[in-house]
Amino acid sequence: MRINCSCLKCTDKPSYINVEINEAFFSGKTISCSEGHEFFFISASPRSQFLIQQGVESFLKGYYFESFHTLYSAYEAYKKEFVAAHSYNEIKDLESVKTMLTKLDRSERLEGAYVTSFISLSNGKVPISLSRSAVELRNNVVHKGILPDKASCEKIGNAVFKFIGEGNLLIAKRCMEETDRFPLNQLYETDYAQSELKKKGFDTSINSPEDFYNKDFISYSILLNILSSMTLIQDKDITDHMFTDQVKNGHFIIS
Ligand SMILES: [Zn+2]
Repeated sequence: MRINCSCLKCTDKPSYINVEINEAFFSGKTISCSEGHEFFFISASPRSQFLIQQGVESFLKGYYFESFHTLYSAYEAYKKEFVAAHSYNEIKDLESVKTMLTKLDRSERLEGAYVTSFISLSNGKVPISLSRSAVELRNNVVHKGILPDKASCEKIGNAVFKFIGEGNLLIAKRCMEETDRFPLNQLYETDYAQSELKKKGFDTSINSPEDFYNKDFISYSILLNILSSMTLIQDKDITDHMFTDQVKNGHFIIS
């Protein structure tokens, strides 16, 4: 997976850096443009949206095996991001959140933590869960080697989209009701990226346009699709066919 990001120092003409979306994309790495401008790059967008987009684009290319697995990975990644965002909102300490996340290494633990976080943020509402048939489908693909086809991808895709959509809707509603100033999941990702940059010795304060164009780091955020942390989702957007609708748009953003 790769994505284009613009170089801030190529001011004469627009120039893009083709960045590989790998683990270092989220933990930080050095990238450079064709003119030799070097930056320390870190994503300030959650990984689930890149997995979601990869699931959509693989589906569009007919790579159903990759699409299915990526969509399911997005579901697991989203739960972790949601729990992290909730915990960070409570305790405001990134290191403690990081330690807590290491304890959620098993899927049933993560599931329990997600339900608890969701109930806490919604004042008592229990989140939807994947249907029994969607879980069976996932188990058949992951544990029995069943090859997923187009219909399987749509089934798991629509289930995962609705699940994540519901989580994002809760976060969006809290902003609209002015409980939170920013979407909690985006706030966590932004603060995480800032903290990693500070650890590397970068001054992340931007006080003038010059500061912006002269900085040697890129804290990268992007709105990729309806499930991005910066998309303002509404009740009417939550349906049983969100994935099917998204693939009909046919957008290729990452490659
Ligand atoms: Zn450049």
